[in-house]
Amino acid sequence: MPRTVVTGGAGFLGSHLCEQLLERGHEVIALDNLSTGSTDNIDHITDPKFSFIKKDVTDYLYVRGPVDYILHFASPASPIDYLERPIPTLKVGSLGTHKVLGLALEKKARVLLASTSEVYGDPLVHPQTEEYWGNVNPIGPRGVYDEAKRFAEAITMAYNRFHGVETRIVRIFNTYGPRMRLNDGRVVPNFIKQALLGEPLTVYGDGSQTRSFCYVDDLVDGILKLLMSDLDQPCNIGNPAEMTIKQFAEAIIKFSNTTSKIVYEPLPVDDPKQRKPDITRARQRLNWEPKVKLEDGIAKTMAYFKTKV
Ligand code: UDP
Repeated sequence: MPRTVVTGGAGFLGSHLCEQLLERGHEVIALDNLSTGSTDNIDHITDPKFSFIKKDVTDYLYVRGPVDYILHFASPASPIDYLERPIPTLKVGSLGTHKVLGLALEKKARVLLASTSEVYGDPLVHPQTEEYWGNVNPIGPRGVYDEAKRFAEAITMAYNRFHGVETRIVRIFNTYGPRMRLNDGRVVPNFIKQALLGEPLTVYGDGSQTRSFCYVDDLVDGILKLLMSDLDQPCNIGNPAEMTIKQFAEAIIKFSNTTSKIVYEPLPVDDPKQRKPDITRARQRLNWEPKVKLEDGIAKTMAYFKTKV
């Protein structure tokens, strides 16, 4: 039975990954410092192959016994969260990734790093291919996340080349689904919460900036395919169905049958103007592509948020 460590295992993506790994027969050890994650996301897991340890992976990291895989998902991930926690965000991406790679070296485990479309910054190449090096403002407010993840990719490749550690890097594009925090500030929980409460949907800027939204089940499927593949170069996983934020607000209004209107608020600093993954590599190397339609994914997410508002 493979033994797998998931850092950030009590978070939105981490908890879904833990469940899928258990389903596939892994023993799973979830680590989380619960700064943005919550045991609410894992309390329902009764599988005896699952354990949880409250742990900040920025500190010394040791796990008893053999480890076959490590999925490094610990990090604040919403712009509001990393703006409120700039130094922990930088530390978990840098020091935390170093600790994870050290554990992998010691245990001869394969590591999968959760990287992000934010490594492309405000992209000048569209859609974004893995070959694009990005356009990041290192000293802007989002730089704490973007640069931490860029450093994390660099040290991951260094451990791969210098120490021969088996590594995988997923660049995750905007993802949504149950277990996102209602108040994490991202556009999906904000709009759904506002629609459910009949409040105006807050579109930042003129709403012409674009994003491409992937449902969590599709994302997890792609990540686990990448983990089991032999691809050690970064791989975009996301849904290429691009839309403007204004169109997204209109879609949420339609799907939820709400009377809410749209209001416009200032655009955050360095907010990327466009974002859409080129998923050719994932299609060719992993035989993966997203399947869940926006309407269906939003319906499931809305059902979850109805229990939370
Ligand atoms: N956004 C918005 N209204 C909100 C929250 C976000 O218009 O209430 C916009 C935000 O400015 C960005 C997009 O939605 O252009 C996606 O924002 P999010 O915070 O979800 O993630 P990002 O893709 O920027 O990391």
